[in-house]
Amino acid sequence: MEEISARVGQNFAELRQNFRSGRTRGLVWRKTQLRAILKLVAENEDEIFEALNRDLGKHPVEAYRDEIGVVKKSAEYSLRHIEKWIAPKKGQLPLLLFPSKAEVLPEPLGVVLIFASWNFPISLALDPLIGAISAGNTVVLKPSELAPACTSFLACKIPLYLDNKAIKLVEGGSDVAEKLLELKWDKIFFTGSARVGRIIMSAAAKHLTPVTLELGGKCPIILDSLSGSDLKVAVKRISGGKWGACAGQACIGIDYVIVQRKFAPVLVELLKKCIKTLYGEEVENLKNICRIVNKNHFDRICNLLEDPGVAASIVYGGSFDKQNLFIEPTILLDPPLDAEIMTEEIFGPLLPIITLDEVEESIEFINARPKPLAIYVFTKNKTFKEKLLQETSSGSVIFNDTMIQFICDGLPFGGVGESGFGRYHGKYSFDTFSHEKAVLHRSFFLELEPRHPPWNGFKLEF
Ligand code: NAD
Repeated sequence: MEEISARVGQNFAELRQNFRSGRTRGLVWRKTQLRAILKLVAENEDEIFEALNRDLGKHPVEAYRDEIGVVKKSAEYSLRHIEKWIAPKKGQLPLLLFPSKAEVLPEPLGVVLIFASWNFPISLALDPLIGAISAGNTVVLKPSELAPACTSFLACKIPLYLDNKAIKLVEGGSDVAEKLLELKWDKIFFTGSARVGRIIMSAAAKHLTPVTLELGGKCPIILDSLSGSDLKVAVKRISGGKWGACAGQACIGIDYVIVQRKFAPVLVELLKKCIKTLYGEEVENLKNICRIVNKNHFDRICNLLEDPGVAASIVYGGSFDKQNLFIEPTILLDPPLDAEIMTEEIFGPLLPIITLDEVEESIEFINARPKPLAIYVFTKNKTFKEKLLQETSSGSVIFNDTMIQFICDGLPFGGVGESGFGRYHGKYSFDTFSHEKAVLHRSFFLELEPRHPPWNGFKLEF
């Protein structure tokens, strides 16, 4: 433990000193590091595929789409826009202050700490790092101990590609995390569970350190009654969003579907057909789907099905391959609402379908629960869209698709309420790791005397 403290403390002191030296502030340094990240992923694609396969059984296409592709896109986007981002912006001033001018100057926060999660272990580590570098900070990155192959890949490559005096990776579990949290960071960016999010916030409070919490929760889909090809597209997008991104182990993954009662049988049949086409039948023959990250999570997900009411609601799937940690895509129709599967984040390939008399009732259903990270709505009804936007609160709302918000650099990515706070991606990442400093330039010309004493009652003397 003492050794961990010493190592962590030494890294921190070095980063603090290098931040103060101004090393990371220049545009050239920032661009060089962003290009180095691009080089790191481009030159090591096969190793990344291998590591993601070892940690999660991720298919290379999925790995490229959700990890390598995401990192490339983000680094390239930052490189294209960084000059504009770092330039001071003109500030507006009241006429009373004439003649003066003002600017808003973005400055790096300092030494920042980034915690990553295991489900997208490359992109959720490197994407926030791109934001921290773009803003000119020095960084400690703490990847998740639950994705050991990806973590050791990053631990090996980051020192080879990036400026080791300004960017350090620290490996370890909660013991190391706790030591890191004792230090006075200028920002903590955390991706993970609400449980650990609370620990992060209370540690940060001691030092008044600002935090961004990228948490999770239960993201619903509302499926309005569609038909024909619209319905087919919707079912494919639901299946892809639920099972095709880390087997449902995704923060913006679909947790459950709300549908009108009379429409449920059609939906179940279409989903079954889609699962068979996309992922195959029976747990031993599954393809193109990730495995569950480890035995603990595997047991946690299987336990969700043990409740007799929940088990009775299974209409498709429900089998496991314990040895290889696979869980079959599983559909449940109206499981009990007080069962854990409906009160806790599922984070796995189980999909409850909740039926209501009218689709409009979904708003009340969602509002009776913690604010989700995302709400997905498949509908063509403009009035319902408007009503939903006005009457619900969530990190994002996506109409007629799933998960795609993750690759949109022009949109803020983040939660609200129990799904977290703060946002990142694109310029929002830069802002998350920057302080906007107000700068005001005054002239010595024109002194308005009444602002200074002596003041004699209400009578102003010039
Ligand atoms: P987690 O909270 O268990 O772990 C996240 C990080 O916290 C890891 O780096 C871990 O080492 C560290 N940690 C664990 N215990 C700690 C402790 N006691 N003190 C300090 N740090 C500690 O979360 P997870 O299992 O990695 O991820 C799953 C959760 O993350 C889900 O709830 C999911 O919704 C959420 N998530 C959110 C996003 C997002 O972008 N909003 C993305 C992915 C995952």
